[in-house]
Amino acid sequence: MNQAYITLEAGREKSLLRKHPWIFSRAIKQVSGTPNLGDTVDVFSAKGVWLARAAYSPKSQIRARVWTFEQSESIDLHFFQKKLSDALQARQSLINNSSAFRLIAGESDGLPGLTIDLYKDVLVAQFLAAGVERHKQLILQALKTILPNSPVYERSDVEVRKKEGLKPTTGWLTEPASSQIWIDEAGQKILVDIEKGHKTGFYLDQRDNRLIASSYVKGKSVLNCFSYTGTFGLHALQAGALHLTNLDVSQLALDTADLIYQKNTIDQQRYTNLNADVFKQLRQYKENQQQFDVIILDPPKFAENKGQVVKACRGYKDINMLALQLLKPGGILLTFSCSGLIDAELFQKVVADAALDAKVEAQVIEKLTQAKDHPVQLHYPEGFYLKGLVVRKTR
Ligand code: SAH
Repeated sequence: MNQAYITLEAGREKSLLRKHPWIFSRAIKQVSGTPNLGDTVDVFSAKGVWLARAAYSPKSQIRARVWTFEQSESIDLHFFQKKLSDALQARQSLINNSSAFRLIAGESDGLPGLTIDLYKDVLVAQFLAAGVERHKQLILQALKTILPNSPVYERSDVEVRKKEGLKPTTGWLTEPASSQIWIDEAGQKILVDIEKGHKTGFYLDQRDNRLIASSYVKGKSVLNCFSYTGTFGLHALQAGALHLTNLDVSQLALDTADLIYQKNTIDQQRYTNLNADVFKQLRQYKENQQQFDVIILDPPKFAENKGQVVKACRGYKDINMLALQLLKPGGILLTFSCSGLIDAELFQKVVADAALDAKVEAQVIEKLTQAKDHPVQLHYPEGFYLKGLVVRKTR
């Protein structure tokens, strides 16, 4: 047994009995011993029943994150090896059309606060909570036994680390390797910059949706809003889109899209990359009475916390209203939200409100979600964040 342990307030064991991995500060009656940032602590109910073993985070509202609900399980090299090899096996059997995948999706893979993506043979890791930060060396050792030839780059340059009392940090955790990696996604070559790109370098969660989008585009004009490095557009062009416009405010992302399209021998006349704010550019198109057959809206997360939900909904409604107006009758809108705090029902309501304001009629023809390498642990519904609707404008 560990020396330090925490005792919960009476009745606050309920979520742990339902195997939810978070223990909030207000649920804790007493901390015994002096656990440091990320130390492992045992968790007891008010009646003294052992419940879980967790990582302690003294600064965070999420005061502890559960490693295990099995009293006999130690948090050691073997523990991390098992989690990593289980996750790797699952990915290898689930993802067969890409040389890149999310190896570890935090809580949903039993490793709270850890994200690891594999780009061909390079691993990119984000240590987002005190427990995984504290066990970084052990996790690296475990990774080495599972994927011995994969260098590891750290991209822990994220705001959420502040809540855990951790500073942002980036850099190679092993021997350095190239930070520019060409991956393969459904037969297309895509450049991922793990150092300068967003997040860990690429949006793996949209892999399946990019192919679904490409099934609607043959012979059509496509507007890809919030394009990043243009992967929705790349698949669309390869599937026979007539013309593509990528819109993004990141010039680096658009330049990368250019490089990627060249590599895949796409004729420059088939696409336009426009550095523009989507909110403004959609209004400009409306003014110019320019229309499109297919529009993709894949904005960044608009709601980072509960206080931002109302404003975020206004943002989603605005771009969806404009997009629905710019579509030709019979046109297709693929619209997404990656704000976990806005659930699927609310998102659909926002899109419905957008259609009302746009004075158009439309129907949902498909519902989309995150790719299979971003699983949602059943006891951790927060793992579900990416929602998408394929909407057909009927009038
Ligand atoms: N669809 C992409 C991922 C999009 S991520 C893919 O499949 O890879 C969101 C993108 O929106 C980022 O590239 C960011 O630069 C861009 N962005 C954020 N705010 C924007 C705005 N107001 N106008 C245009 N682009 C924006």
